[in-house]
Amino acid sequence: MFENVRQAQDYCKNQGIRMIDFKMVDINGRWRHLTIPAERLDESTMCYGIGFDGSNYGYAPVEKSDMVFLPDLSTAHPDPFTEVPTLSISGNVRVLRDTGNEPFDQYPRNVALKAEEFMRRSGIADQMIIGPEFEFHLLDRVSYDCRPNRVSYELDTMQAEWNSGLPGANSGYHVPREGGYHICAPLDSSYDFRSKICLMLADWGIDVKYHHHEVGGPGQVEIEVELGSMTDMADKTMILKYVVRNAAVAAGKTATFMPKPIYQEAGNGMHVHMLLRKDGKPLFYDEAGYSGLSKEAHWFMGGLLMHARSLCALTNPSTNSFKRLVPGYEAPVTIGYATSNRSAVIRIPAYAKASDSKRFELRNPDATCNPYYAYAAILMAGLDGILRQTDPHEHGWGPFDCNLYQLSEEEKMGLESLPKTLSEALDALEKDHEYLTRDGVFPEPLLNAWIKNKRAEAELVEQIPHPAEIGLYYDL
Ligand code: GLN
Ligand code: MG
Ligand code: MG
Ligand code: MG
Repeated sequence: MFENVRQAQDYCKNQGIRMIDFKMVDINGRWRHLTIPAERLDESTMCYGIGFDGSNYGYAPVEKSDMVFLPDLSTAHPDPFTEVPTLSISGNVRVLRDTGNEPFDQYPRNVALKAEEFMRRSGIADQMIIGPEFEFHLLDRVSYDCRPNRVSYELDTMQAEWNSGLPGANSGYHVPREGGYHICAPLDSSYDFRSKICLMLADWGIDVKYHHHEVGGPGQVEIEVELGSMTDMADKTMILKYVVRNAAVAAGKTATFMPKPIYQEAGNGMHVHMLLRKDGKPLFYDEAGYSGLSKEAHWFMGGLLMHARSLCALTNPSTNSFKRLVPGYEAPVTIGYATSNRSAVIRIPAYAKASDSKRFELRNPDATCNPYYAYAAILMAGLDGILRQTDPHEHGWGPFDCNLYQLSEEEKMGLESLPKTLSEALDALEKDHEYLTRDGVFPEPLLNAWIKNKRAEAELVEQIPHPAEIGLYYDL
């Protein structure tokens, strides 16, 4: 938004901005923030940054935990949710060393930038273009505690009334189970909510492709954004989730990107479309190739499929992620690729025909990931495939032009599956991570901290008695 601090200061004066809000990313991909009065934004803030104690952000310890946040004025945007006029700014984090300060190599945005630099240095491509799709549930309320049968979701007002069974408590319109895809008003009760969000996003520099009700019961919706450059898209992912959640709260609702909030309903994915460019030219198109894809595109897919299991530890890093990756809900289970097939890990859309938009989508990711790490890991896996010339067909990963959910036991023989639990994904990452640590893109201590934190989450969930266990074992 601004090129220099002078412009930012003038803007604050003219627009009555009173606070500057610095947004930092923690290891899990949550925004944290630190606020200064607007009149304190000056040259020295830009030059020396704002110091903070990084030890609470979940990263692997560094010898000194003093970190410095350096604002990036091009990211400035008024925060639409604050009462006190506030300018929100993201940036990069540096760590203090005796020799001076240097970029904090574990900081998500720095990891993403390093992955892009690795791509350029490899000579393979100079730009990775991606397009994530955001599915989420808009709920009235969710309440939970650790006692059995105490987790409840209220899907939306109409559904809550329906469940309450009160006569006359609803209008008679109910989104059928698994019947919400593109459903129209009055069943689609969040149309205006989504439209308002899309206007806010456009205002914040995020172009929306479209929004719609999703297939899951009441409250599952989706926003797809236009394709864009990788690190920039990670920034946009943070903004989109912030806008959705805060707009939901402002509307008296709550939004969740949890991959599988409701049993036996469709889960929330974050499919990622992708393509590479070099000197402005698309690299993934070849009219003569399978489904119009070039050999580079095939090798890139090969890399993604080769590392699919370890990749899940970064693209699907919650215990809940693996409750979504089950057969029957258009979420992938089998490691493979195909055209127009929603049961495979990689789907090549049949409709993206133009050479400059020729691409495929990776379907397993979900929005519980840290987008910077997830997108960077996807890029590193794909580049590894290109460097090794990994042909996905030769490895037996497809193309699968059949419904992979409905294979017989015999047909399933020899097919590989995604991990079934977070622990399995972490085991895979422990064994297979050289493609990530290349040239220090993902520092080893970061991956170790990640695995340690995530193992603790898996253990916590394993140790809590599950409501389903009451049904299964109470009278055993
Ligand atoms: N919700 C599905 C998933 O979990 C995708 C459904 C769709 O986009 N048609 O990935
Ligand atoms: Mg979509
Ligand atoms: Mg969808
Ligand atoms: Mg998709």
